[in-house]
Amino acid sequence: MLRSFGYGATSATSPLAMLRFERREPGPQDVQIEILYCGVCHSDLHTARNEWGNTLYPVVPGHEIIGRVTKVGSEVTRFKEGDMAGVGCIVDSCQHCSACAEGLEQYCENGFVGTYNGEEMHTGGMTYGGYANNIVVKEHFVLKVSDKLDPAAAAPLLCAGITTYSPLRHWQVGKGKKVGIVGLGGLGHMGLKLAHAMGAHVVLFTTSPDKREDARRLGADEVVVSKNAQEMAAHENSFDFILDTVAAAHSLDAYLVLLKREGTLTLVGAPEHPHPSPQVFNLIMKRRSLAGSLIGGIRETQEMLDFCAERGIVSDIELIPIQKINEAYERMLKSDVKYRFVIDMASLNNEAKAA
Ligand code: NAP
Ligand code: ZN
Repeated sequence: MLRSFGYGATSATSPLAMLRFERREPGPQDVQIEILYCGVCHSDLHTARNEWGNTLYPVVPGHEIIGRVTKVGSEVTRFKEGDMAGVGCIVDSCQHCSACAEGLEQYCENGFVGTYNGEEMHTGGMTYGGYANNIVVKEHFVLKVSDKLDPAAAAPLLCAGITTYSPLRHWQVGKGKKVGIVGLGGLGHMGLKLAHAMGAHVVLFTTSPDKREDARRLGADEVVVSKNAQEMAAHENSFDFILDTVAAAHSLDAYLVLLKREGTLTLVGAPEHPHPSPQVFNLIMKRRSLAGSLIGGIRETQEMLDFCAERGIVSDIELIPIQKINEAYERMLKSDVKYRFVIDMASLNNEAKAA
């Protein structure tokens, strides 16, 4: 087994701290990566604190991974030692069901294997994520990351980037479309940049009035403070598409009424407590849709990374040492993220050396 170390939680109430664990040795189809940077997703916090009720401890979060390839198996063809590589939320799937055949591994009919808190297919043990020194992943699930992109700022593309890119593409966001993004956090700020790059007219909804200027800088054509009823009312019946990235329960009706006829509100935020059920009349009177979307498949993740490399799109990040992770979680709960924390894994190696 491969000896690894990283930051993880041993219970829903314990802070994250250094722990040691084992991964499988790389097999013929595997790529071993030395992790350089890992983004901090709100899903990491939901999982570390068992807010979705499915966490098995110990858990090592992290699914926005960028690193250098240190070893490849004999059947690996796309990667060699020294390459920059990325790993997102998925490290395995059945690869033969109809969803996998279409490149939609996130909807694998036999259940995809999450990068952390997932059931490892090879060893029967658990998967451990990217707040760690290394990771071993089957080649199919490893992404190519252009050298043109700053690796630390590119890390959040692996979850926040693809989770917003995929629904924007699926619902055909582009020129001539009026698009709303709800919440200016990690996902929201990527959704904003991507929808802007796709040519849409983008309106950013925030509960934090002090984020107005940043939203404009990041590509918003208009900014609405969602607590202001008058500002909201001005947009009634006008949106083609709204992407809701909020990590807490809130009224969906507030956004459904902003859709025009046949518009769609798509949820990607996955709060601990359910949203109150929306009014059916807000859907039927204008044939509106309420939908959801889960990350994105491997092929589309590569497409998104290439799209970002061509346009120089990365995340706006705050680089932190891993020892600040618990503090970062508290700030995330206060919506005080500008706009993604990324862990510099050198800090983990330094701590391990000192110990
Ligand atoms: P984040 O960085 O914490 O951003 C969430 C944003 O939501 C906040 O910055 C804030 O923006 C807004 N917000 C927070 N509390 C709110 C409240 N009570 N009412 C209204 N707005 C509130 O989180 P993230 O990493 O972007 O993740 C967002 C959600 O998406 C999480 O639930 C995460 O688990 C989920 N997620 C889903 C997928 C998927 O595949 N569907 C993938 C990744 C993550 P403002 O300050 O602008 O209001
Ligand atoms: Zn995530």
